Amino acid sequence: MLGAPKCTATRFLECIRATDSTKLWHAALCLILSLGVGCATAQREIADKPAGDPSLTRFEFSQPQMGLPFRIVLYARDRASAEAAANAAFARIAELNGILSDYDSDSELSRLSQTSGTGQEVILSADLWKVLNRAQALAKKTQGAFDVTVGPVVNLWRKARREQRLPDPPRMAEARAAVGFEKLQLNQRRRSARLLAPKMRLDVGAIAKGYAIDEALAVIQAHSLSRALVTGGGDMAAGDPPPGQPGWRITLAAFDATNAPPTRFVQIARVALATSGDAFQRLEIDGKRYSHIVDPRTGLGLTDHSLVTVIARDCITADSLATAVSVLGPEPGLKLISATSGTDVRVVIRPENLVVVHESPGFSRHYPSVTEP
Ligand code: ADP
Ligand code: MG
Repeated sequence: MLGAPKCTATRFLECIRATDSTKLWHAALCLILSLGVGCATAQREIADKPAGDPSLTRFEFSQPQMGLPFRIVLYARDRASAEAAANAAFARIAELNGILSDYDSDSELSRLSQTSGTGQEVILSADLWKVLNRAQALAKKTQGAFDVTVGPVVNLWRKARREQRLPDPPRMAEARAAVGFEKLQLNQRRRSARLLAPKMRLDVGAIAKGYAIDEALAVIQAHSLSRALVTGGGDMAAGDPPPGQPGWRITLAAFDATNAPPTRFVQIARVALATSGDAFQRLEIDGKRYSHIVDPRTGLGLTDHSLVTVIARDCITADSLATAVSVLGPEPGLKLISATSGTDVRVVIRPENLVVVHESPGFSRHYPSVTEP
């Protein structure tokens, strides 16, 4: 799900929901991120002198983008260069939302979806190509557990959440007929796509945010500011650490349960971290909770409550893998991570009121727990 700046009458409810989930994510951010500051409010900017390098000042900027709070923390010599970099980074995220949003019927992604079933070949922009190419590679690797053609089914679950009732079985069968990564054909040489079945709808909500975060960090680095962190929702990409520190200190989200493990802090630099889970967006019916993440192979919202944190070299990888591992579950998920170089994962599952933690072997080695400042 990517938010859209425009609200038409039919999308109005979705926009409200996106705003609500923005608030939830904002609250979640307070839990997930511990960066030595509180939660930033929209468009607030904070400047602060760090210990370590007196020539650098810490700046913080925050803006809603893609229906989520995005935040940039960076170190710069002066306010003008900090603002120039942050503004350019936010502009790049807004540009990507215009390409990748499934709420905006004019986005490049939506226009591609509108060609489904016609057999028309569509030449893609560099950004859409990169996202779809990465998505298809992961779809193949996970045998369709991760699948950006899942749009028709995701839409049914969005409606189900609004109406607080499960999707209609006949409509679910119709939606599932339009889902399947093999129905999205990419041509590597021509950088084009063809949607082979009618009524397909692409949804890059599980990967586009990660790409936008990477691109925003790259823009800041192109402004010669290397000490920066970009977060969107609970996902983030870190550049060089704050002056005099080994990394950006992050608090991993925890389940609220009787045997919950102690709060886990990690320090990250020059990597990305993404979290997927059903803690914030879900439908609850007859005591059963259905996540906003669906298993494309069954059309069902996930009912195993989990919180998956992936650390990878970039956020497009971390974001997409966190969703893929959520669908696969801990054992196949850990196998996927061990087959993907430069990645680590932490899976917290909650059967009943118990909390069980699975970590890839490198997780604690690469990201040993640090204590609160
Ligand atoms: P969040 O957006 O809450 O951070 P994710 O990154 O896991 O969480 O993305 C979830 C979104 O991805 C859903 O809202 C939906 O738009 C889309 N989605 C749901 N299930 C899948 C799936 N199996 N594969 C790819 N995308 C999915
Ligand atoms: Mg994701």
